[in-house]
Amino acid sequence: MAGGGRVDLDGNPIKPITICMIGAGGFIGSHLCEKLMAETPHTVLAVDVYCDKIKHLLEPSELPWNGRIQFHRMNIKNDSRLEGLIKMADLTVNLAAICTPADYNTRPLDTIYSNFIDALPVVKYCSENGKRLIHFSTCEVYGKTIGAFLPQDSPLRQDPAFYVLSEDSSPCIFGSIEKQRWSYACAKQLIERLIYAEGAENGLEFSIVRPFNWIGPRMDFIPGIDGPSEGVPRVLACFSNNLLRREPLKLVDGGHSQRTFIYIKDAIEAVLLMIENPARANGFIFNVGNPNNEVTVKQLAEMMTQVYSNVTGLSPLETPTVDVSSKEFYGEGYDDSDKRIPDMTIINRQLGWNPKTSLWDLLESTLTYQHRTYAEAVKQAMSKSTAN
Ligand code: NAD
Ligand code: UDP
Repeated sequence: MAGGGRVDLDGNPIKPITICMIGAGGFIGSHLCEKLMAETPHTVLAVDVYCDKIKHLLEPSELPWNGRIQFHRMNIKNDSRLEGLIKMADLTVNLAAICTPADYNTRPLDTIYSNFIDALPVVKYCSENGKRLIHFSTCEVYGKTIGAFLPQDSPLRQDPAFYVLSEDSSPCIFGSIEKQRWSYACAKQLIERLIYAEGAENGLEFSIVRPFNWIGPRMDFIPGIDGPSEGVPRVLACFSNNLLRREPLKLVDGGHSQRTFIYIKDAIEAVLLMIENPARANGFIFNVGNPNNEVTVKQLAEMMTQVYSNVTGLSPLETPTVDVSSKEFYGEGYDDSDKRIPDMTIINRQLGWNPKTSLWDLLESTLTYQHRTYAEAVKQAMSKSTAN
């Protein structure tokens, strides 16, 4: 643990720092807090409206990292304490956002405010007070691939130049304004541009992270158990919910979209390298994903069905998946990214980082967690609703 002989990538001793982590109570924040408490000497000022996912780090008071993590329940939209916390810290990590696709077309105003307007003061306070910022953006800023606009049978679709997404050369390609799905990507793009401009004009020290489908335990919620029954989380939680309830997994528009999934614990290693190697990380935008774990959403459904069966000993359903239109599932204004392969050149060169965990292995540990955490509660909720 703490301190003892830790050195950065250039062999310099790592000094303990204070980190203001906004959105620390979410999926990524909870894993980052866990890592920082277990393996580093750093202090975290954890800001969020919720703390359920980091409760195990805050209580009881005799935990080994006692005193190194403080929770500040705060909505950053309207809380004057924010600037004070940023001033107290050496580094701010901003994770706060509305970031579930079901919200982008149904709550576009909240989505834009959350991802752009609410992030403005964070950037401003960091810039004005000379504080370093690691801001979480998204791979979705790339939008659709260039290849998506080629004819279906074009051989160029197989050429990486038409689909690999590179931080410093790929364009950002979104749909029309009525496709409100892109409200999130567009807000994230504009805040990236603002941060970049603060760096260029005012010397803000920043890094921007573009996560490519990080998944693992504690991601989102299971509808009706630890989140609203009508809520639609991201695909890992949607499919977990279907598996737990023994109902078919819903494939939106046939499940043809492609994604690369990365295990949260691999991704957190990359963030820790950014935190502890400012000289190598400042001024860069980083893709963080696993290009080796690409599947279509349909293949993901098949794999999760198989893994869940192995983990629980329950045989898969006779009809494990069902097709559903995006309009029915997400409503008007939904659109999709076709394919997301991250170029790893920059993160590899700057931080020497590579992902390790295969999709099969990460699904095994994640679905074991989902089953242990939720199976009993889902069973009880289902028997209650049948009784009613
Ligand atoms: P999450 O929803 O689990 O975490 C976000 C946290 O921010 C939540 O705990 C929420 O309560 C908090 N928050 C939101 N608005 C707030 C406010 N006004 N004041 C205080 N707290 C607020 O999401 P996550 O998956 O942990 O994502 C974190 C960041 O990474 C987001 O910026 C998201 O856009 C980005 N991202 C994540 C992924 C992924 O694969 N998980 C992919 C792309 C981008
Ligand atoms: N998806 C699906 N069934 C579900 C949930 C999601 O087919 O129950 C699809 C969704 O349309 C998208 C992909 O899975 O193509 C990934 O969705 P997610 O919500 O995880 O976020 P995204 O990667 O689009 O940001």
